[in-house]
Amino acid sequence: KSAFAKVKTEPPVEVFHLVKVFQADKHEQKVNLGIGAYRTDENKPFVLPVVKKCEIEVVNDAKLNHEYLPILGNPDFTKAATEMVLGKDSKALKEKRTLSVQTISGTGGIRLAAEFMCQHLQRRTVFVPNPTWENHMKIFKQAGFKHIKQYKYWNAKKRKLDMSSILRELSEAPEGAVVLMHASAHNPTGMDPSKAQWHQIAELIKQRRLFPFFDCAYQGFASGDIESDAFAIRHFVDAGLETILVQSFAKNMGLYNERVGNLVVVLNDKQQLPAVASQFTILVRINYSNPPAFGSRVVHKVLSVEQNRKEWEQTVCMMASRVKDMRKQLADKLKQLDTPGTWDHIVQQTGMFSYTGLTPKHVQKLKDDKHIYMLSSGRANICGLTTKNVDYVAKSISEVVK
Ligand code: PMP
Repeated sequence: KSAFAKVKTEPPVEVFHLVKVFQADKHEQKVNLGIGAYRTDENKPFVLPVVKKCEIEVVNDAKLNHEYLPILGNPDFTKAATEMVLGKDSKALKEKRTLSVQTISGTGGIRLAAEFMCQHLQRRTVFVPNPTWENHMKIFKQAGFKHIKQYKYWNAKKRKLDMSSILRELSEAPEGAVVLMHASAHNPTGMDPSKAQWHQIAELIKQRRLFPFFDCAYQGFASGDIESDAFAIRHFVDAGLETILVQSFAKNMGLYNERVGNLVVVLNDKQQLPAVASQFTILVRINYSNPPAFGSRVVHKVLSVEQNRKEWEQTVCMMASRVKDMRKQLADKLKQLDTPGTWDHIVQQTGMFSYTGLTPKHVQKLKDDKHIYMLSSGRANICGLTTKNVDYVAKSISEVVK
């Protein structure tokens, strides 16, 4: 008898499974609105020109080699990434009470943060938005959290942020609980709190002595502006809250498969830094020993050379504008077609995704009859829309809804 006889088969991971099914579909008009990756108006993956340029420079740099990076990563990269998210003039940076750790993109960073919070901050309860990125709850569970709770984030009827539920449910959270927040471009709803609402949330978290944790996977993708999209995090830090945040460079630099991320701990007392750093060092060491170098070198070149940085910021703005434009075209066309329901939320939402409000049945029909793929939750990646397919998608949605 095989040692593996009792291994259970789990269902495939929906987003990645959809990619496979999509690739196998031979229909000419097929459209992939599933996985969260940017596409050009030609429906092609996008290598940002400035990223490509920096990649070539890294490859050609005779001074670089393949020696191991330090356990906590490439310090030039983590410094530049941390300044990007906290702001160069951040008080916490000036007071040297932050720690940065290079991570295996956003996912690896969240896992590392969750393990640290469980083992060294003795946290067992986390509150994540409902809905949230489907991986969040699983990561926290795997890291040892016992109570994985959700706070209601989305008003499905009105298709908007449910601020009163957020405040009510977080005010009932037990002291010390970790609260996970999306820094900007919330996945999957595309709805972020306003500045005033972030003020309220920060105040509540402070009063209730909860622990804020930020997932920052889309800096730049909400507003098109890197600084504005860091508002929530900077506000919490300015308000004197300690926090941990995780950045991903998958989307805003198009470095999906290079797995470049950064984890930042902001402490109130810098005396605790060496202890915290020593624990992260051990966690990384026993997980994967040290991170890969290439992507970190590329990101560092993009962020630290002024001309590169400028070009990158313009490109991020261009990507965000293309998505905004596609939102508008889709919503306008749905309205022109007298599609039942309201569609303004598609324009109000930000980032890559629209939480369309389509039901699992609609989604199934779109896939089976129209060869249009999105998540069963009704989340559509707006980046998959182009000026060439938006008419077809609008017409198809209109038909399945009617
Ligand atoms: N957080 C959120 C909210 C995400 O949407 C994603 C990517 N889909 C990630 C984290 C992690 O992405 P990665 O590991 O590719 O950086």
